[in-house]
Amino acid sequence: MTDGAHAATGPGRTPREVATHCPYCALQCGMTLREESGRATVLPRQFPTNRGGLCQKGWTAAELLDHPERLTTPLLRDPAGGGLRPASWDAALDRIVTGLRTVQRGHGRDAVAVFGGGGLTNEKAYALGKFARVALRTRNIDYNGRFCMSSAAAAGMRAFGIDRGLPFPLADLGRADTLLLVGANPAETMPPLVRWLTEQRERGGRLIVVDPRVTATARQADLHLQPLPGTDLAVANALLHVALTEGWIDRDYVAERTSGFEAVRRAVAGWWPARAEALSGVPVADLEATARALGTAERVIILTARGAEQHAKGVDTVTGFVNLALALGLPGRPGSGYGCLTGQGNGQGGREHGQKADQLPGYRRIDDPAAREHVAGVWGVPAEELPGPGVPAYELLDSLGTPAGPKALLVFGSNPVVSAPRAARIEGRLRDLDLLVVADFLLSETAALADVVLPTAQWAEEDGTMTNLEGRVLRRRALRPPPPGVRTDLEILADLTARLRGGGVGADATDPRVVFAELRRASAGGIADYAGVTWERIDERDGVFWPCPDEDGPDTPRLFADRFPTPDGRARFHAVEHRPAAEEVCAEYPLHFTTGRVLAQYQSGTQTRRVAALRRAAPDAFVELHPDLAGRLGIGDGEPVRVVSRRGELRAPARLSTAIRPDTVFAPFHWGGAARANSVTNDAVDPVSGMPEFKICAVRLERVDEP
Ligand code: SF4
Repeated sequence: MTDGAHAATGPGRTPREVATHCPYCALQCGMTLREESGRATVLPRQFPTNRGGLCQKGWTAAELLDHPERLTTPLLRDPAGGGLRPASWDAALDRIVTGLRTVQRGHGRDAVAVFGGGGLTNEKAYALGKFARVALRTRNIDYNGRFCMSSAAAAGMRAFGIDRGLPFPLADLGRADTLLLVGANPAETMPPLVRWLTEQRERGGRLIVVDPRVTATARQADLHLQPLPGTDLAVANALLHVALTEGWIDRDYVAERTSGFEAVRRAVAGWWPARAEALSGVPVADLEATARALGTAERVIILTARGAEQHAKGVDTVTGFVNLALALGLPGRPGSGYGCLTGQGNGQGGREHGQKADQLPGYRRIDDPAAREHVAGVWGVPAEELPGPGVPAYELLDSLGTPAGPKALLVFGSNPVVSAPRAARIEGRLRDLDLLVVADFLLSETAALADVVLPTAQWAEEDGTMTNLEGRVLRRRALRPPPPGVRTDLEILADLTARLRGGGVGADATDPRVVFAELRRASAGGIADYAGVTWERIDERDGVFWPCPDEDGPDTPRLFADRFPTPDGRARFHAVEHRPAAEEVCAEYPLHFTTGRVLAQYQSGTQTRRVAALRRAAPDAFVELHPDLAGRLGIGDGEPVRVVSRRGELRAPARLSTAIRPDTVFAPFHWGGAARANSVTNDAVDPVSGMPEFKICAVRLERVDEP
C-alpha cells in the first residue's frame, strides 16, 4: 500500500488527508488525519498492527492541535522573581545561550545536561544526542525511556546481543498456542492489540496473565497468576524448575543455540513450586499448569512489560523469563519467542539513536573506540572531542543543582516532575538549577518551573519517523504546518547550535528527511542498522523492520532464525536469583504500593488530561484498595485517603475493588499535584539498567478526615 498525503476530492473547499500514526503509545496505530475548514479529525486506517482500530486516546488525538492552552510564544521567567512572561524567540534563545555559556564557563561542559523523551521522532532523538555531544560537548544526556523499557533492553542485550521489543511481527501473537503475558495490561494500555489476543483464543490458544491485579487483560485470560508485587522472578524460576523436572526442555536447541545453561539449571533446582508459592502467593497447581501450557505447546510466546520490568531487579526478572524461553527453545522458532511490549510511542527508536547516556546512533556504545570513530566521522568532528558515557536518567536528575551535578538542564518531550520516582525530590532538584529550559507544546508541570519555555510543534505538524514495538520504522506525516510563533524541535536545536558554535558542526539540519539520511549513515554497521531504510521504502509498504543494512536488501521482520547477534551466534543464559524488593513492608508501612495506567490517560497526562473526552472518562486519580483492607481501616468507597511512604504522600479518593490483593494498594501515575503517585514511589534503581523501582514500595494508608 502506498500511503501519503492527498487532497480529498470534492467541490469547493479541499479537505486534506494524510496517512499517519497515533502520537501516543508504542503500538503506533495507523490513522488518517483529515483537515476540513480548519478542523482536524481522526479517521480509521487499515494498518497491520491495529487493523483499523484505535483506542479513545487515538480517536481524540487531534483535539490538542487547536487546544486553547497550546503554547504559541516563548516564555521567559521574570528575573525579578515573577512568573513566566511571553517573549520573542531572539530573547529566549539569547537567554538560553548566555545561561549555558555562563554555566559551562564556571563549572565545565558537563554542567549542562539534556533530558529527552521516548515520544520524540527518530530524527529528533538523533539530533538531540548529536546536539549534546557536538554543540554542548556534554556527557550528560539521558531520557525518560530509562523509566520505561530499560530493564528489558538490558536483558535482551545480554541474552540475545540485541534489544528489539518484539523480534517478530505483532501478528504472531494471534497464532500462538500459549501466550504468557507478564506484567502487561494491553486491554487498558493498547486496546487494539487485544484483537490479536482474541484471535489467539478463537484459534484455541491459551492466554495466561501474570499480574498482581485482576486487570481488564487478566479477566480475559484462561489462567491468571496473581503474585505479590516484586515476586515475578521467583515465578519465572519455578516455571523453569517444573519444565526441567517434567522434561519439557528443548535439549537440542539448548545445546546448539545457547550457552550458559548449566548454571541456570543449578540455580533453578532450588525453586520448587512450593517455595515460589510461599513467596509469591501463586498456588503450586497454577504454576504447574502454566509450565505445562508453555512446555507442551507447539507455538509459545512469552511477553513482559512494565509490571515485571520496573523494579530494582527488573533486568534479572526479565532474564528469568528469557531463560525460560530459551530453555523451551522458543526464540527464532516460527510463531514463538520472547518479547517486550514497549511503552512510549518511540521508546524503541528513541533508545537506538543517541539519547541514552551510554549510546551513539545505531545502538553503538559510546565507549567503543571504533563506534566513536565512525560516528565522529559522520558528524565531522574528531573522535576525541566526543564526550564519554553519562549517567542514567534518575542519577542525572538527582544530581541536578547539587555541587557536583549539572547546573543547567534542557528538557525535550518529557515531564519528570510527574513521571520521575520520588518526584518531590526531583522537583526540588529542578528548582535548584541555575537554568531550566523546557521545549513543549503545553505548559507541563516541568515547564511551569522553567526559566525558559520554548513552544514546539505537535506530531501532526511535522514529518519524521517512529519505530514501533515491533522494530518497524514508520512514517509520521504532517497534516499542516505549526501555528505562527511555534518552531519544531529540529529548528530549535539548529538555532541553538548556530548560536553556540556559529554553525559548521552539522547539527543544523532542520529538514527531517535530511536528518534521517544522516542518521542512516551514522547507524550503518551498528546493531540498530537503518542504512537501508528510506522514507520511500517505508511509503511503499507498511514500514521497514530494522536491521536493514542495505537499500536493495531485505529488512528483518523476524530475528534469530539462524543465529543470535552475539560473537559466537549463541544466545546466553544467565543464572538469576530472586531477591526482595528494595523496600519491604514493616509495622510502620505495612502495605505494598504499586502504580500503573488507566485506559483514558497516557504517561504524565500533560496531553490526555487536556482532552475533554478523556477527562470525562478518567477525570481524577484514585487509590484502589481491596474491600477487606478498606473495612479494616474504616474507609468507604470514594472517601479521601492518603498513601504515605518514607518519601512522601499522595491524596486521592478511595476506589474499592476486589481486583487488587488485600495487602496491596494501587494508584495510576498520570496526575501531578497532591495526587502524584510518584511522590510515594521508591527511587532505588536496577544496578544494570538504571530502572527505578516504580512497581513496589512500602506504604501505609490513612483516611483523610480533614476537608
Ligand atoms: S493503542 Fe496506543 S497507538 Fe493505538 S490509538 Fe491507543 S494510544 Fe494510540
